[in-house]
Parts: sequence; C-alpha cells; structure tokens
Amino acid sequence: MMNLYNTLTGEMEPLSCDDGVVNMYVCGITPYSSAHLGHAMCAALFDVLRRYLEYKGYSVNHIQNFTDIDDKMIAAANEQGVTVKELADSNIEAYMAELNALNVLPASKYPKATEEIDAIVDVIEGLIEKGYAYQVKGDVYFRVRKNHEYGKLSRRNLDDMLAGARLEVDESKEYPGDFALWKSAKPGEPFWGSPWGDGRPGWHIECTAMALKYLGNKVDIHGGGRDLVFPHHENEIAQSEAYTGVKPFSRFWVHNGTLGYGAEKMSKSLGNVFSIQAALDAFTPESLRLFFISSHYRSPLVFSNDVIQGQEKAIIRLNNAVKAESGTGSEVNVDRYVLAFEEAMDADLNTPRALSAIFDLTREINRGSSSGHNIEHAQSVLLKLLSVLGVDISTEEQHSGSSEPFIELLLELRQQLRTEKQFALADRIRDSLGDLGIRIEDRDNDTRWSRI
Ligand SMILES: [Zn+2]
Repeated sequence: MMNLYNTLTGEMEPLSCDDGVVNMYVCGITPYSSAHLGHAMCAALFDVLRRYLEYKGYSVNHIQNFTDIDDKMIAAANEQGVTVKELADSNIEAYMAELNALNVLPASKYPKATEEIDAIVDVIEGLIEKGYAYQVKGDVYFRVRKNHEYGKLSRRNLDDMLAGARLEVDESKEYPGDFALWKSAKPGEPFWGSPWGDGRPGWHIECTAMALKYLGNKVDIHGGGRDLVFPHHENEIAQSEAYTGVKPFSRFWVHNGTLGYGAEKMSKSLGNVFSIQAALDAFTPESLRLFFISSHYRSPLVFSNDVIQGQEKAIIRLNNAVKAESGTGSEVNVDRYVLAFEEAMDADLNTPRALSAIFDLTREINRGSSSGHNIEHAQSVLLKLLSVLGVDISTEEQHSGSSEPFIELLLELRQQLRTEKQFALADRIRDSLGDLGIRIEDRDNDTRWSRI
C-alpha cells in the first residue's frame, strides 16, 4: 500500500482506490511566457507519481488545466501586439513540446479556461443560489465568511490572512477577503457573455469547474506547487465544497517543494537558463529528470549546474549497466532491489531512496556481468524501474554501440602518459573513468578494468 502525505490533514495516509482508478487533477501553467524549469519539475514529479500508480496497477485519470486568460495574459499579449489566444497557443505548443522532450506522459485531458466558460458560469450560478456568492456591478465574489472551514488547508484564520495580505481597497466587496469568481470586462479586454454581463472568470473558479466536470465528485489527488496552497487551493476547496456539499473536495492534497536558484541566480552568464528550453539546450532530458527526483518531492530543490552535470555521469553509469554483456551462468536474482525500490516509493514517493536501490541494482548487474552470470532479467528490471521514474535509458545513445573500444583507447593513452611520467594527466583519466563507473586496476605490467 502506498502512503502519501496529505497537506489537508498534515499526515501520511494510505492511498487506495477500490475501483482501480485514481482521479488526479494538477494545476497547470498560465501561458503568458515561456515556462520555466520549476514548471518542468512540477510536471515531472506528478508524472513520477502517476507512473508509479500505474506500475501498481491503477489506471490514472490525469487532468491538467491551462489558465489561458488572466491579467498577466492580457498584459503580455498587449505588449507583444498579439491576441491573448495567439499568445496562449504559441506558449502552450512550446510547453507541450518541452514536456514531451522531458518524457512526461501526456495528461488525459488539458482543459483551457477559455473553453470551459459554460461550466464555470454554472458553478458560479450555483454558488449565488446557495448564498455563497454575490454580484456587484457585473463582478461576482465568493463570500469567504460564510464558509466556516475557510483556511483549513493552509491552516490560517481570516484575521491572519487579512493582516498578511495586501488587499486592494475595493468598496464593492462585502468583506476584504472575498475573492472574485467573475470579473466584468474592462475596455479592450477579451470577454465572454454571462448572466452578470460581459466579463471573464477569476482564476480559482476555473479549477473547481474543470475538476468537477472531468473528475466528478471523486477527486483522489489534487496537486500543484507549494506556492498554490494559499490562496488558490484554499479557494478551490471553499468553492467546490460549497457548491457540491461533498467533503472533502479532494481526498489528497499533494504539493511539491519549490525549485530555487541559489547562487546561480547571480551568474549573468547563465542568462535565461531557467526556461525549460534553455535547460534542455544545456543538459540531457534524462539528467534533468534525475536531478528533479534527486531530492524528495516535498523538499525544496536548488538549481545547480554542477549537480546536474553529476547526473549526466549517473546516466552514463546506468547506460553501461543496461548494455553490459550477459554471461551464460546462473541468473542474477534482483528481488531485493525491487523490494527496496517499492518500499521507498510507497513511503511518500521517496525517490532519493528509490534511486539508491536502483544504483545498488546497477552494481549487482556489473558484478554479475564481470563474473559471467546471466544478467538479462536484471537488466530488464532495471529498465522497468527507471521507466517508473520517467528516466528513459533504452533509447539513449542507441546508435553509439559499445563503449568498450573507447575505454581501451583511454587506457592505452593513460599507459603512454605514465611511461612519459605525466602522472597527473594519467591519474585524471583514471579518476574520470572512475566517476563513470569504470574501475581500473594496475597489476604487474597489465591494466584491467571493470564496471563498478
Ligand atoms: Zn488550479
């Protein structure tokens, strides 16, 4: 049984779905500019959760929205002299191509706010009927004080929220904490018709409408970045539970830690490396995926060139194990590594521990290969576990053939350097090969190598 941390209860809880289907809604991007690496990390982490649930036999219904209308969209479109739709379409297309390059499985459906206006209007009408929302001059607001549980996700009370938030003074609201469900159209803005006049939806209401439309009253997991807990997810819960009367709106609330840029942010030379595309230009998709899961999904992760470059070496080691030559001896048993992997993933998706099980398996494969054992089954297990993490090794450098001639060539070169007493350079070759999982042993006049 998998245990998952639930932000709503603050506890680890077992995840089980009797019908074999997990309904998962993950908040998507606002496509007003190129998506950044933090968006890629969020998509990759929920992709790992989805893949692991599928590995455990569930079928996953995965919905991810696009907020293709809001203030930022309108401002950016005006600045670039394009329509909001043109801006959204081009950024969404680029983002989808980037997710594909990162081996993120496509969601079951990517609804867009602008294409779900009817569903959104229905929910707002229902909220007004039930007294949870009110209309003022073409705007509609949610009445947060009517909901006694408001604040239960972020564990705040209304007074603290108001003290901490810089709320615009808006005379039309009954209470400063009330938030907009519908915004009346200002001149020059895109708008849609509604019972309250022309306008556009607020941000939070779209996710309520889309989650209910595509997943019904059974939302098993609702996720996104930690920065969405308040106000976005708090507001989604308030709206949805007020509208349907069903609690909880989502059984699990799952949030990933943020991606920080640390000292690298100060480096001008990195330029826009923080866009997904720039990262894909600088690093392989596999090393980025390994980097994202190198720390636990709820912990903050700090971008580091060196760390990602280190992942490139890890990928080469995995590649070497996948391509190591199998002997005809007895089959290597890898059950304990699979067990360790599953135990780690069952413990709130502990990917760092799962990765360490995978590297233990890699060493077992290399040992088995060196001693002439049959490692074919072990290699297929390795590929399967890696695919659960979204790390696609099987196609990596498939045309490059065996690395053995290159290793032999480097050893020859090293021997020559030693003869010329250039020991520093010779040692560098040994150390670099060591980093790649190739151990060198000098015996008498012979040098042997093996995979660690
Ligand atoms: Zn959302």
